Formats: sequence, structure tokens, C-alpha cells
Amino acid sequence: MNLLVTGGSGYIGSHAVRLLARGGHEIWIYDDCLRGHRAAVPRGRLIEGEVGDRASIERVLRERRIDAVLHFAGVALVGESMARPDFYERKNLHASAVMFEAMESVGVRQIVFSSTTATYGAPEQMPISEDTPQRPINPYGATKLAVERLLEERCRRDGWAAFALRYFNAAGATPAGDLGEDHDPETHLIPLVLQVALGQRPRITVFGDDYPTPDGTCVRDYVHVDDLARAHAAALDRLRPGDFQACNLGSGCGHSVREVIEACRRATGRAIAEEIGPRREGDPPVLYADIRRAQCVLGWQPEYTDLEAICATAWNWHRTHPKGFDDRGA
Ligand code: UDP
Repeated sequence: MNLLVTGGSGYIGSHAVRLLARGGHEIWIYDDCLRGHRAAVPRGRLIEGEVGDRASIERVLRERRIDAVLHFAGVALVGESMARPDFYERKNLHASAVMFEAMESVGVRQIVFSSTTATYGAPEQMPISEDTPQRPINPYGATKLAVERLLEERCRRDGWAAFALRYFNAAGATPAGDLGEDHDPETHLIPLVLQVALGQRPRITVFGDDYPTPDGTCVRDYVHVDDLARAHAAALDRLRPGDFQACNLGSGCGHSVREVIEACRRATGRAIAEEIGPRREGDPPVLYADIRRAQCVLGWQPEYTDLEAICATAWNWHRTHPKGFDDRGA
């Protein structure tokens, strides 16, 4: 297939591009490179542009004879979304709506969309299945859910084939060690813990140890980024005209912040200092996925089931790329 990958220079998008290219697809990456990295994209495959630029997207869809879109582009930080809700509406919701108009006008009606656990909010019942009510508690989750609704409507009204993949906590790096996580500023737990192991930070702050969980720290579901990438290939194969489908992608297991820090200590063999800080606003105590639908519908199974193994791939990347892609200001 001829595939357009929006956000293909980002963390999850770049891993998916790597995997899909191996499957023989013709891939074009469409990205504003605001938060991603040109170095994460195969040479000669990057088209720089805004998802919300209708004329530009339409031109690319036509000229490259695109069959399907993988829509990774977007902004994805809960805290930032609370501080800048308008920015999240513009980058996630409005830009997507404009791209969908462009796709319809060119007749591209197949899409795999990067959605998120944040669309569920803070449900009380665990694990989270696709039938769990979606009640987001922050603008990030709300904008992603709104895009899901737009796609559902496109499927019903215009016969589109759409798959929403709801990621839990993406983690790790490709075992080859040349692609990995590089955010600026970094806010995610595993890379921050590994920066402590590298001596780039003095300690990791645990955001609260008084949650109603076995060790008092928050529990999340960490899923390897290459496992997420494989699910996209499976979703592409299972797109059906007129159908909006959604699957959770997680490991199916919950791990506490303390367990993550311990796993990183084992994976790195280094001392990692920690301190207990206050809770981070908006953090639900426990989130983990019921992944039976992904297993059944996508025939997908996470290959990485061990947290330490996931942390080891992340460590391999951070150890060999202490400055990430090293393209700041490039
Ligand atoms: N966390 C933490 N200290 C940090 C960063 C994160 O204790 O410096 C916790 C956070 O409260 C959450 C978990 O680690 O429970 C994962 O956070 P992250 O930001 O990586 O992902 P999120 O779950 O917010 O998508």
C-alpha cells in the first residue's frame, strides 16, 4: 500500500514506520517536526507540513496516490493540555478534522488513528476494556475522543474504514538501539529514571506514595513501542469499509512507579536515587488494559511481557544516545 504516516518523526510513529517499511509498503511521512526528529525518519521520505493545512495534505494524498493514512500526529501531554487546552484543540482536533475533509475530497477513506487510555479518564473498574465508558478528565483525552467520534461518523456516513488504537503507556526502544524516546522537555517516567542512571539528573521524584495501591505509588500499563508498531500493521490488514473499530493496546499488566524504578535498577545495574514528592494533578491511581479484543480482533499479542526487558531496550537507547537524536535547534 501507499501509506501516509502523519507524525512519523515522533516516538511511536518512527517505530511504526520502521516496521511497516519492512512489510514492503511505500511510505511517506508527513510531519511538522515540531516535537519529532528528522533523524528518526528514513532519508528522502519526509514531507514537512501541517496536518491542518488542507491544500498541502490534499496535494500529498493525490500526488503520492495514498491508499491509507496512519495518523500519529498530535500533542500528547496531559499536564500541558490542562495549561493550554486551545492548543490541544487546534493541534489534535481541528487539524484532524481538516485532514479528514481533505481525505474525503480525494477519496482516501482508510485510516488508523493513534488514540489513548486518556479517553477513558479515571474509571473505577479495572482492567479497562473497550466497553468501559469513555469519560476523559483532561483536554488531551477529550480531543482524542472527539477525533474518534469524527471517525465513527465518517465510517457511518461516508463508508470510511477506521481503526482507533488506544495506547496505554508506550515504553522501550527498538532493540537495534538506533531509535528511541527523545522528548524535550522529558516528562515520562522511564526516560527520566534512566537519565538518573546516566547521571544527567540527581534523582527521580515519585509523584505520591499515598495512593490506594499495594505500594502506594501509581500503577500503569507499560507496553513496548515495537509491540504498538506491530499492532498498526495488523489494524491496516483489518480495515473494513463502513466500520469504526477500536482496540486497547497495553501489556495487560499493571506496574507501580516503584516497580518501574526497581526494573530500571536491574536493567542498568546502576544506583538510582529516588525521593517522594507530592501527587501530580490528574493522575488516576491505577490504569491497566484488558487486551482481549486486540488479541482476538487483531491477532496481536505483546512480545514484551517483562518490564525489565522493556526497560533494558530503553536503556540500550539512552546509554548509546545520551543526548537523544542530538538535533536540538537543528
Ligand atoms: N511519574 C513519577 N515521576 C515522574 C514522572 C512520572 O512518579 O517524574 C509517575 C506518574 O505519576 C505516573 C507514571 O509515573 O503514575 C507514568 O507517568 P508518565 O508521565 O510516564 O505517563 P502517563 O501515565 O502520565 O501517561
